[in-house]
Order: sequence, then structure tokens, then C-alpha cells
Amino acid sequence: MPIDFSFTEDQELIRKAVKEWCERNLTLEKVREMDTKGEIPREIWKGLAELGVLLPTVPKEHGGAGVDWVTHCIIGEEIGYADITIATAAAFIVVEGAWGFTLDKYCSEEVREKYVKPAIRGEKFVGIATTEAGGGSDVAAFKTTAKKSGNEWIINGEKMYISGTEECKKYGGGYWILARTSPAPPEAPHRGMTAFFLPFDTPGVEITKRFEDCGRMAISTGGFKMEDVRLPDEYRLGEEGKGFYYTMEGFDNARLIIAASAMGVTQRVLEIGIDYIKQRKAFGWPIGKFEGISFELADLWTEMEATKALVYKTAWMNDLKYKGKFSAREVSKYISMCKLKAPHLALKACEKVMIWHGAYGYTKECPVEMGWRGVMSYCIGAEGAANIQRVVLVRELLGPDYVAYKKLKE
Ligand SMILES: Cc1cc2nc3c(=O)[nH]c(=O)nc-3n(C[C@H](O)[C@H](O)[C@H](O)COP(=O)(O)OP(=O)(O)OC[C@H]3O[C@@H](n4cnc5c(N)ncnc54)[C@H](O)[C@@H]3O)c2cc1C
Repeated sequence: MPIDFSFTEDQELIRKAVKEWCERNLTLEKVREMDTKGEIPREIWKGLAELGVLLPTVPKEHGGAGVDWVTHCIIGEEIGYADITIATAAAFIVVEGAWGFTLDKYCSEEVREKYVKPAIRGEKFVGIATTEAGGGSDVAAFKTTAKKSGNEWIINGEKMYISGTEECKKYGGGYWILARTSPAPPEAPHRGMTAFFLPFDTPGVEITKRFEDCGRMAISTGGFKMEDVRLPDEYRLGEEGKGFYYTMEGFDNARLIIAASAMGVTQRVLEIGIDYIKQRKAFGWPIGKFEGISFELADLWTEMEATKALVYKTAWMNDLKYKGKFSAREVSKYISMCKLKAPHLALKACEKVMIWHGAYGYTKECPVEMGWRGVMSYCIGAEGAANIQRVVLVRELLGPDYVAYKKLKE
């Protein structure tokens, strides 16, 4: 009997602790307030730090909680269940959390002491900034450059649609960035890219944009430029020229956690829907008696359970990947399926539950619209567009020659 779907006692305890904390601190009323004001209060951020869930997968010897990826998914799921706008999960459990692990893996001791450890304590913000105005999916289009000068790198470029720029400026911290450090052949544009950690208060860094998003309002999205920014070599992440590969590892970790968070949103909105369709009456019956509605619930719940099974299987694989038992490519394939499915399922659940609510569902008195606006960000593109997940899958299922933009061999 080798297969076992149960969580460990520690995992159950962490789920309970996060759930109870959210019931006290991250109620739907609080989430509405955050969505309206456009910020996550400092006490929420600090509370998550005290709970020990910031950058939770960072090893204990580096100041983290050293939990596994299954546990990190549990945390994401519970935070997504509480804050259905997905802003809290996006900011602290996905961007800081999953990227924080990857940052810690490749950074120098100096970056760890000055940025990773304070981020774990909820004092500074760490994020990820790869996207540029010219394109996010197409890495070859990135224009940011880093040129070596003695023991320093001189960086020029602009990053756009970046989560947390205002928070990073206000509280301190910095970003994982990707820059071209040497030319690459046209058939392999991802070569010649190096990753760096950019402290946000470095001279030459300037915020150029704050977007007015339609959802996920409590975390800012902005752009910043880097003009002759000088970074010591200690701020290079990993080896020169390997930045693309490290960044893809970071994306994989983040995509897994956003999928888990989206499952929390899905379950919460379906539960809101269940409560409503049991009490709202039409034609003398609770509307949950009409199969036009109850069958939609049955289908959505089935899809949710199937997707959760995929997400937790993938988290288990991700843990084994770091123990050398699965290849990165094999796990990437599963992670792309999670990212492809989970946010869209959450969006569909929000849409259906809004419709079950009738006119009330279209008002801000009903919480579900916050979820609908929020999860759309992950359907559109945050942590990688849906079609890019399909490209990864096609590459694995049919072979690399079948990726649309590659010329097929005769
Ligand atoms: C709310 C929000 C927060 C974000 N936060 C961050 C952040 O913190 N850091 C960061 O670096 N980026 C961030 N992003 C940017 C995100 O990573 C990009 O949106 C994403 O990579 C897609 O890039 P793009 O928006 O430039 O779209 P494009 O790459 O221009 O794609 C446009 C459309 O074309 C499709 N497409 C592209 N290539 C192909 C192909 N080969 N085959 C089929 N279809 C294709 C895409 O699926 C998409 O629908 C954020 C985005 C959002 C919406």
C-alpha cells in the first residue's frame, strides 16, 4: 500500500494555525477594506511573520521555517481561502515566499543577511522583476543589460508590471532581476542572461509607473527604471550566464504556490455559493433545488478536488525534485498543468457563484466580485501566461520541435 494521501501531523497543525489566524485577522470584511483602500496593513504582514509563514521553505539554518513544498501549498491554500482577492497570497506567500526560497538558494551571504532574513521577519519586501514593457513571455525581447566593470556590474533597463513596487519602496527590500550579460545565438536567446538581486534603494533606481489594476488591489503593481545602477558582484545570483535557468526554477516554485492559493479561493467562493443557494428562494423553492444550479456546483466541486489532487501531487514531486528523485523538467510539466488549470477554475467558480447570486452578485455588497477581479490577474499572466504553460506542455508531450515558433525539421 505505497500510496498515501494524508498530511503529516505537522502539516495539519500548520493548516489549523493559519486557518485560525485568518479567521481572526483576515476576515472578508477586512479583505473588503484592504481592497478598497488598496493596501495590506502592516499588522497583517507582521502577523504573518509572527505566524512563521513568510518565506517558509527557506531552510532553518538560513533563518526560515524549513517546511516542505506541500506545507507551503497548505499555507497558500489557507491564505487564498481567507483573502479571495488573492492579494495577500500573491504578495507574501507567492512572490516573497516562493521566490524568496529561490533567492536564498542562489544569493550571497551578504544578500541573505541584509534582505532574505529581514523579509522572513516581515521587515523588508523581496520580489521578482523580469517583465519589461516590450514583453513578458518572450525572454529574448528583454532589453535590460548588465556590463562588468571591475568588481561591479552596471545595469541599465526598465522593468514593468512588477508586484509590490510601492511596498518595496516604502519598507525597503529589493528584486530578483534578469539582465543580458552576453550576446546569445538567435536559436537560444535565453543564453547569456544573468540574475541579480537589486536593492531598491540603489542610486539609479526610480519608480516610473504605478498601474491602476482592476483587481488584487491591496498590492501595488508598477514599473521602475535602472540607469547606470552599480551592483557589487556579491549581488549576482548564481553563475554568470545561468540566470534564465534559475529564473525558470523560481517561476516553477511560484506557479505551484499560486495554484494552491487559487484552490483556496475556489473552495471559499463555492462555500459562499452553497450558503446562498440553500437560503435564496425562487418559485417557492431554494434555488439549490434547481439542477441548473446544483449541477454546476457538483461539476465545479469535482473539478476543484481533481485540481487539488494535481496540486498536492505536484508539491510532493517538487519536494522530491529537491532530493534528486524527479528531474526539473518532469516537475515543470506538472507545475504548468497546475498553473494552467487552477487560476482559471477559480475564475470560473467566482463567475458562476456571482451569477447564482443574481443582481446581488454584481454589487460590492457581495464579496465574490473581489475574487473574480483578483484571480483574473493569474489568468492573464502573473507568473506566466496560460498559453506559456501550454507551450511547456506541448514541448514535453510532443517534443521541442513542435513548439509553434520553432521550424519543424523536414
Ligand atoms: C497583476 C500582475 C502582476 C504581475 N507581477 C509581476 C512581477 O511581480 N514580476 C514580473 O516580472 N512580472 C509580473 N507580471 C507580468 C507577467 O509576468 C506577464 O504579464 C506575463 O509574463 C505575460 O507577459 P505580457 O503581459 O508581456 O504578455 P505577452 O507576453 O505580450 O503575451 C500576450 C498574450 O500573448 C500570448 N502569447 C505569448 N506568447 C505566446 C506563444 N508562444 N504562443 C501562444 N500565445 C502566446 C500570451 O498568452 C498572452 O495572452 C505581472 C502581471 C500582472 C497582470
